[in-house]
Amino acid sequence: MSTKIPYKIYLNEDEIPSQWYNVRADMKNKPAPLISPADGHVLTIEEMNPIFCEELNKQELDNDTAYFDIPGEVMDFYKMYRPSPLVRAYFLEKALDTPAKIYYKFEGNNTSGSHKLNSSIAQAYYAKKQGLKGVTTETGAGQWGTALSMACAYFNLDCKVYMVKVSYEQKPFRREVMRTYGATVTPSPSNTTKVGRKILSDHPGTSGSLGCAISEAVEVAVSNPGYRYVLGSVLNQVLLHQSIIGLETKKALDKYGIKPDILIGCAGGGSNLGGFASPFFGEVLRGEAQYKIIGVEPASCPSFTRGKYAYDFCDTGMICPLAKMYTLGSQFIPSANHAGGLRFHGISPILAQLYDDGYFEARAVEQSSVFEAATQFARTEGILPAPESSHAIRVAIDEALKCKASGEAKTIVFNLTGTGYFDLMAYQQYNDKTMTDVVPSDEAIMESLAKLPKIGNE
Ligand SMILES: *Cc1c(COP(=O)(O)O)cnc(C)c1O
Repeated sequence: MSTKIPYKIYLNEDEIPSQWYNVRADMKNKPAPLISPADGHVLTIEEMNPIFCEELNKQELDNDTAYFDIPGEVMDFYKMYRPSPLVRAYFLEKALDTPAKIYYKFEGNNTSGSHKLNSSIAQAYYAKKQGLKGVTTETGAGQWGTALSMACAYFNLDCKVYMVKVSYEQKPFRREVMRTYGATVTPSPSNTTKVGRKILSDHPGTSGSLGCAISEAVEVAVSNPGYRYVLGSVLNQVLLHQSIIGLETKKALDKYGIKPDILIGCAGGGSNLGGFASPFFGEVLRGEAQYKIIGVEPASCPSFTRGKYAYDFCDTGMICPLAKMYTLGSQFIPSANHAGGLRFHGISPILAQLYDDGYFEARAVEQSSVFEAATQFARTEGILPAPESSHAIRVAIDEALKCKASGEAKTIVFNLTGTGYFDLMAYQQYNDKTMTDVVPSDEAIMESLAKLPKIGNE
């Protein structure tokens, strides 16, 4: 009899990887560098240091070092909530009546309710080490702001969070969690910054976007001594920190000799997909293995499937450096009825390059089908998933149903990034059957892409 795979594969504490993996070291085509919006020159570390933390800039620019030691204090913090379990979804498999074997890596077992703590604690550590007073950031749904507040409380740093206005209003309890950890939370766009006041006068009544909130947070960081701006996704350094997810997943699979066929992650800015898939991309890039890797995005904000691979602003206010990514245009704001998160117009430059080189595929899914999958998952596996994570659940279920049709017993592993306790307004819409799917028209996307900067794209 073969060994039965336990419901939860836990690594021991001393098996938590002690280094992060930098997939760029194995990429032949490196991701495009950040460039200046003024004249397109590649940003130097000296130019980045006034905005971001120095040690993080070194990580950002390092395309060659494959492994970075995780600092001891970060390791100690990781031990509070890691290793995270890799769970065999026996009950979901049974409900689907599929021969597929489904596993999920569960990153929601901490107060922030998501994987974002893996990077916020690293970023707060380097900010503290640099002797800074505090950091500024934006948050959309609130997970990143919460994760950063927790990390800043741990290292005794001030934390200023600009929260997308629609989320601030819809999720007052998120704000209270952040304030409990000591952060200041401001709805964005606000009149506390120049860029916020401009956005408010250009778009009165706007419900905000991540891009707006980034502009505000950057302005506050560069105009206050002892502050730097930190970002919870998109950047190379964030994918580096999030590689802990993929490294643990691989270790747990290897422990039982399990070889995945399909790996799935949802894609907002790309940090969980990038971190979860990095070690597997590494094997593919080195010619050691083949996997089908799928990034899942909302049909209402479809950067990979309908965006353009081009240099673009990361922020609506157009004050940040330009990144080359699949983008819908920095002026693209997803429909206000979109409740499912993953609202960012662009994507990590690392993933953009890997996607352009054909190392993985992307799928866009509509939010009502995402909530249908979320509900099925909650009822079978018990966990109430975040809407973002449920994009990955949707495609995991779709792939498992394909296996049912073909009779193939494939092994599917997906990243369950977090829990949905603060997303109950969205669940309410779904339960009340008032949820609608708004997919942007080709015209709307073309109009937004027409405003891409000339710099970098000539
Ligand atoms: C932020 C978030 C995401 C999306 O961000 P990525 O950077 O694309 O990973 C996904 N799931 C949860 C629960 C999140 O909080």
